[in-house]
Amino acid sequence: MSLLEIRDLHVSYGAINAVQGVSFSMEKGEIVALIGSNGAGKSTILRTISGLEHAKSGSILFQGTELTKMKPHKIVEQGIAHVPEGRRVFSKMSVTENLTMGANLIKDRAFIKDGLERVFTIFPRLKEREKQQAGTLSGGEQQMLALGRALMTNGSLLMLDEPSMGLAPIVVEDIFRVIRQINETGTSILLIEQNAFLALNTASHAYVLETGKITMQGASQDLLADERVKAAYLGA
Ligand code: ATP
Repeated sequence: MSLLEIRDLHVSYGAINAVQGVSFSMEKGEIVALIGSNGAGKSTILRTISGLEHAKSGSILFQGTELTKMKPHKIVEQGIAHVPEGRRVFSKMSVTENLTMGANLIKDRAFIKDGLERVFTIFPRLKEREKQQAGTLSGGEQQMLALGRALMTNGSLLMLDEPSMGLAPIVVEDIFRVIRQINETGTSILLIEQNAFLALNTASHAYVLETGKITMQGASQDLLADERVKAAYLGA
């Protein structure tokens, strides 16, 4: 059984058909990337998996369980964590408060303590700044905090929407190093990334989306070498 299997998914915003019959799957332990230009429907797919948008038709199976009719908090409980675009942290709250908000579904204190320990092990910088207001952190630290908040639930699938957005190249390198590290501990990752080169060098498989449809797919190494991908997404 695949970890995630999406079959013929359609999602619309009124008259706008944002996702038009998308099918793909990913296996446990993988990093899979969705690439494609602005407005292709990538964020909508992640939002629909999380239950934040409603599927018009089609199926989303996570470890064999159908998600399309499930409420967002139930989907989190299944083991899916989502870091949305634009790393929305609560700027007036401390680092620790931001992290424990992410675990507000799970009342168990031991679970929260384990979560904080896990996050602070991966992000020692956040530990150093645990009492600092999130709004005073650098962009990269805020992205780490957004990632950390998702890690608090200890899900088996982490979905990341444009983790590199607005960050300096050296900070992006840091974030992607951590993404690989998180994957190495057994967490599967579904990644949306504008920077196709970075996405294909991080993921094992990738899907190219154009106006709501998958137009190309395959092993990242094959896509990196593909002339159409080079011309359209790698600036070659
Ligand atoms: P981006 O990288 O810009 O987020 P994307 O590939 O993630 O692009 P989506 O954000 O999923 O694309 O958008 C897909 C389509 O749906 C676009 O045409 C977009 O304008 C439209 N869309 C997205 N969100 C909404 C919304 N809340 N209401 C109406 N239309 C929307």
